[in-house]
Amino acid sequence: MPIALVWFRNDLRLADNPALRAALDGGYTPLPLYIHAPEEEFPWAPGAASLAWRHQSLAALDADLRQRGTHLRLFHGPSLAILQAVVAASGAEAVFWNRRYEPAIEQRDTGIKQALRAQGLRVESFNGSLMFEPWAVQTKQGGPFKVFTPFWRAASAQWRNEPLWEAPAALAEADTGPAGVPLAALGLLPTPRWDMPFWSDWTPGEAGAHAALEVFIDGALHGYADSRDRPDQVGTSRLSPHLHFGEIAPWRLAAAIQSARSAASAAGVDAWLRELGWREFAHHLLHHFPQSAQHNFNPAFDRFAWANLREETLERWRTGRTGVPIVDAGLRELLATGWMHNRVRMIVGSYLTKHMRAHWLEGARWFWDTLVDADLANNTLGWQWVAGTGADAAPYFRVFNPVTQATRFDPDARYITRWVPELAKLPTALRFAPWTDPAVAARLAPDYPAHPLVDLASGRDAALGAYRTLRASR
Ligand SMILES: Cc1cc2nc3c(=O)[nH]c(=O)nc-3n(C[C@H](O)[C@H](O)[C@H](O)COP(=O)(O)OP(=O)(O)OC[C@H]3O[C@@H](n4cnc5c(N)ncnc54)[C@H](O)[C@@H]3O)c2cc1C
Repeated sequence: MPIALVWFRNDLRLADNPALRAALDGGYTPLPLYIHAPEEEFPWAPGAASLAWRHQSLAALDADLRQRGTHLRLFHGPSLAILQAVVAASGAEAVFWNRRYEPAIEQRDTGIKQALRAQGLRVESFNGSLMFEPWAVQTKQGGPFKVFTPFWRAASAQWRNEPLWEAPAALAEADTGPAGVPLAALGLLPTPRWDMPFWSDWTPGEAGAHAALEVFIDGALHGYADSRDRPDQVGTSRLSPHLHFGEIAPWRLAAAIQSARSAASAAGVDAWLRELGWREFAHHLLHHFPQSAQHNFNPAFDRFAWANLREETLERWRTGRTGVPIVDAGLRELLATGWMHNRVRMIVGSYLTKHMRAHWLEGARWFWDTLVDADLANNTLGWQWVAGTGADAAPYFRVFNPVTQATRFDPDARYITRWVPELAKLPTALRFAPWTDPAVAARLAPDYPAHPLVDLASGRDAALGAYRTLRASR
């Protein structure tokens, strides 16, 4: 049988994999491969936590392929040159992959497609990761959306349930072509192995994604509409890294969540599908406004008086030593697990960009390096939203009060105490704002900063002052 390269990227699964399916339907023997080429993603080469996840996920994919009779070949180097070399050595006649939507990757892939087609190969790419590709949803005028609600209304009107495709039971081995390199040679794991504790929380790979879905459907989905904002509970799906790496198709998730709809779960189902909609919207925006990963979506903010912070000040934020308990809890959760609850992402982001007045890119870059679900579309949207610089963003003058947020969403301070155990001896009410009783804090929490890095009231006033100056200068 003729051979087709199946180039795995952010679609590290066998079920619902349109590229793999196209190879099989076309009568080809698939030759599965992965190419590590981080420099081709510049300026957003994958961060350290993301690479560590990818290592685990590639290992899982290889094991799944081996169980079926073939295996994953790994390469390190320029993608086009490697694809051409594998084609030449294997005699492959076709190359199939599932699309990615990051600006650098879109540009690279267009060039690769042209070059390989010019060699006479059959080259096809597919949608493997979105419910609606960025160009599929348009305003009445035929342009992109900038606001979520009308985007999601238009997208929902186009909704159709994609048929599911089960992973093949067996796959023939393409017994030719270069062997590639061992997984360890890709150098995806950090030294020292600070990622080790992550893997008690997470199981990267397709089976892990399906298991996470089951856990969510049997548990948090029912109460999701209320519990999704509670970092002290397991109230969300924790599917984000699985979705980012394409270990499960969004349309399989949507189908499973919809089939769990009952009178009791309806609000949770609708709320969850809407969050999936934000992911779609983020990809829509990044595709149509590729500069937004680097620049303020709202260019007025190019003149904003961002503070020029010292490295050690930023480091106190990054490592969770700001003296604001909910902020520190979130940043420590991130370092310990590679993930942070969405509500707390908003709180730490607001403190950084409003109270500390750091440019949102400082936060976006830190998240990029430390999140296992780091995703250029979602991270860009999240940070521009929080900073008030984005499309459909929270207005700049809406400054989150981290103490009010904590008392509302972590009412017993359980989340705070879990990640900031130095505060455990304080009475609960004081764990949200220990500086309000300095004598008690000094006695019962002596190892915790005595004052917030930036005082909440004056930080807020300074941020609003900078915003007023910006508006006055129009
Ligand atoms: C500053 C900031 C940065 C962020 N960076 C990322 C990032 O790099 N990668 C990432 O996947 N998400 C990011 N998010 C969005 C959100 O925080 C995470 O998707 C969510 O916390 C993942 O947890 P979950 O899977 O349990 O979510 P659930 O609540 O179960 O939601 C289901 C899925 O919907 C999607 N989703 C949920 N909320 C959002 C959102 N606000 N925007 C876009 N998609 C969403 C995710 O794919 C998520 O897995 C960011 C949010 C903020 C405020």
